[in-house]
Amino acid sequence: MRQIGREPIFVERGEGCEVVDVDGNRYLDWVGSWGPLILGHAEPSVVAAVIDAAKLGTSFGAATGAEVVLAEEVASRLPSVEMIRMTSSGTEAAMSAVRLARALTGREVIVKFAGAYHGHSDGLLAEGGSGMATLGVPGSPGVIAAQTAATVVVPWNDREAVASALAEHEVAALLAEPVAANMGVVPPEEGFLEFLREATIEAGALLVFDEVITGFRVARGGAQELYGVEPDLTVMGKVLGGGLPAAAYGGPRAAMERISPAGDVYQAGTLSGNPLAVAAGRATLAALDERAYVRLGGLTDRFAAGLRALAADRPLQVAAVPGLVTLFFSERPVRDFAGAGACDLEAHARFCRALLARGVYPPPAQFEAWFVSLAHDETSVDRTLEAAAAALDEALA
Ligand SMILES: *Cc1c(COP(=O)(O)O)cnc(C)c1O
Repeated sequence: MRQIGREPIFVERGEGCEVVDVDGNRYLDWVGSWGPLILGHAEPSVVAAVIDAAKLGTSFGAATGAEVVLAEEVASRLPSVEMIRMTSSGTEAAMSAVRLARALTGREVIVKFAGAYHGHSDGLLAEGGSGMATLGVPGSPGVIAAQTAATVVVPWNDREAVASALAEHEVAALLAEPVAANMGVVPPEEGFLEFLREATIEAGALLVFDEVITGFRVARGGAQELYGVEPDLTVMGKVLGGGLPAAAYGGPRAAMERISPAGDVYQAGTLSGNPLAVAAGRATLAALDERAYVRLGGLTDRFAAGLRALAADRPLQVAAVPGLVTLFFSERPVRDFAGAGACDLEAHARFCRALLARGVYPPPAQFEAWFVSLAHDETSVDRTLEAAAAALDEALA
């Protein structure tokens, strides 16, 4: 909010696709808690599942049957995942997947893409997207050089840079958001994910897809289903917890059995697989059937097409995959972090302020996605497009 020159919004409550702030202002919400709320706020089946679970006890520090049911649901959606380990945040899940990849390969170097965000663990903060990009910081104080020495950063959609990184270093894992969504939405170029798959196999490195945003959103089986490319390990979160703190990482049984206590790679968490979070995740995934994905895709298409019509021949670019949209204030299509960074952030800030003034709450940052949910409908999309038309006239005047 500071980046767009506004006071922050303090939220009092959410209802479906709307939030109400502490002053009683009502906004059509396109942030959706930054991804988890694919069913919208306070969805009755999710709320009921959480209440029912709470009555049975909020935490045990022991396994529950509900976790197994959730794991089975995940495995049924992701053929590359036979076994998962739950955590409470995407940060922990990504950090732990890296530890596992290093143990499995006996190598240290991690390759990540500039503008990709994999949570805030020290080694993965280099050139992070999301809030780091919005604040314009390449790294964070408190992270010592030794912690990022084994992290190599390459531009997204750049095959040559990936090939040289894999040739120059003994790489344990290449981490990718299969659809970059923390520098704004930047889909992989045709064949790029296939290239990552082949290049990592050739280099003896593991391919880790961070599907914390894309998982259970862009398709039933995430981006790996949408693009037909299977990683070695998958990181999940956001939608998986349905608005409560749950995340996970997973892969083939043989790899996952290296995690303690079955194996020797240590990782634990007092609240991992928390019953309330698992209940919210199960209720959320239960609502995400094929029909739901068709509807989410249709709403995304309607929104993206409307924005493209508004963009016309103005310096604007619309990027969209099912459930995710970004309007870049750029003359040229954005294919990487440098392209996203070249956007007209002042115009984008004016656009956001103008939308908020019209009761529409966009992600107030160029380097974030708009999150389409099933609580949105044709009317909320059209109302947003109407507000966007006026907001663009103001922003680009
Ligand atoms: C949000 C996010 C994370 C971190 O998840 P937290 O639950 O916020 O720790 C990791 N990877 C990606 C791609 C994300 O969008």
